[in-house]
Amino acid sequence: MSKTLQAIRGMNDILPDQSPLWRYFEGTVASLLDGYGYRQIRMPIVEATELFKRSIGEVTDIVEKEMYTFDDRNGDSLTLRPEGTASCVRAVLEHGLSNNGQVQKLWYIGPMFRHERPQKGRYRQFHQIGVEVFNLAGPDIDAELILLTWRLWGVLGIRDAVTLELNSLGTSEARATYRNALVDYLAVRGEQLDEDSKRRLATNPLRILDSKVPETQALLVDAPKLANYLDDESQVHFDGLKARLDAAGIPYVINTKLVRGLDYYSKTVFEWVTDQLGAQGTVCAGGRYDGLVEQMGGKPTTGVGFAMGIERLILLLETLQQVPEAINRQVDVYLCALGEAAELEGLALAERLRDQLPGLRLQVNAGAGNFKTQLKKADKSGALYALVMGEDELVQQVIGFKPLRGQGEQDNIAWAGLSQHLAACLKQA
Ligand code: ATP
Ligand code: MG
Repeated sequence: MSKTLQAIRGMNDILPDQSPLWRYFEGTVASLLDGYGYRQIRMPIVEATELFKRSIGEVTDIVEKEMYTFDDRNGDSLTLRPEGTASCVRAVLEHGLSNNGQVQKLWYIGPMFRHERPQKGRYRQFHQIGVEVFNLAGPDIDAELILLTWRLWGVLGIRDAVTLELNSLGTSEARATYRNALVDYLAVRGEQLDEDSKRRLATNPLRILDSKVPETQALLVDAPKLANYLDDESQVHFDGLKARLDAAGIPYVINTKLVRGLDYYSKTVFEWVTDQLGAQGTVCAGGRYDGLVEQMGGKPTTGVGFAMGIERLILLLETLQQVPEAINRQVDVYLCALGEAAELEGLALAERLRDQLPGLRLQVNAGAGNFKTQLKKADKSGALYALVMGEDELVQQVIGFKPLRGQGEQDNIAWAGLSQHLAACLKQA
């Protein structure tokens, strides 16, 4: 016997029982972004490997060890996208969307791929909703991005479970000065660093700041602080952002060790974190990347954005029991028909109902069965009402209208008045 085929480790099926929650989440975010004037962009899942090397940075975890990279049949090196910002910038440049200072407020949704160790909240194929804004340089737009996520947490009912962590990385010049100071400080203490941090000391020293190793963190207590190296412009920008968040009443904590994994950030960086999901606590992360577009061959163009991890937010909704009951009901009405003649009439009636009530979620019994079996299926479908067409109903040109959730008695309704009756009942439900 051949071995059963299985999905790739860390790449999950989202089964029909889970889909309503995904659609609820995605729909909620989409309409919220619509409401703030963001427009959707869809990029390919595969890009030239070079794109990610150039944008994310050669010495980041993603590029060093997490990318799904392969040669296609032409021998070109391609990569399954590990994140969306690089592709989005590539698309914006390729189509001239940021030319002449045009402002773009964009969002995207889709799968991302990283070869990480799968665990709760961490997968090899996972999904993000990302937002990117081009050609708006001020802290007002940074604040808007945070405000809209804050609103989203409110709509989803998870506000109390998330905390906003905020930091400023300064300009790349300011960061370079700080990097030297940090390296000087750590170099003489190199022996006390963990192995990963030793390696990063030469390649990407700022990442040492968010090391999870306690001994390394202890060593960092007296290290130079990035906040003391901020350039004036970044300081003013950061103050402007904080003033706006204060004015809007959005709580935050300054986390001076927040550096983010990718090379391209400057000035504002932020993360929304929760303590409800164990180690995988960051549900949304982003920041400003004013140098990235130029680094990728475009004219100087400011950028700022964030990405949220859909799996983690769905886990959070489940953990906090914030899954609205209504999303799981996918059927309004279930039509049962007994016998061939009733089936034919029932089918035609169902199609007329669909014409008259667009959006009606109507399931017609398939696979025949006696009255009892069909009603059982009707009940299991979650429908509010069953419509029953039997021989008597056929003769009288009526249909049995049976409330399934204890809302009233069964009644016979004339075909002609059915759609009106149904519409009225569903409106009340
Ligand atoms: P982490 O520190 O958890 O690895 P990250 O800094 O690598 O996160 P980003 O690249 O900023 O993550 O991605 C934005 C968001 O996407 C994260 O905050 C998280 O919610 C989600 N995310 C990132 N990697 C994964 C993954 N492997 N599985 C599930 N969600 C992920
Ligand atoms: Mg990561």
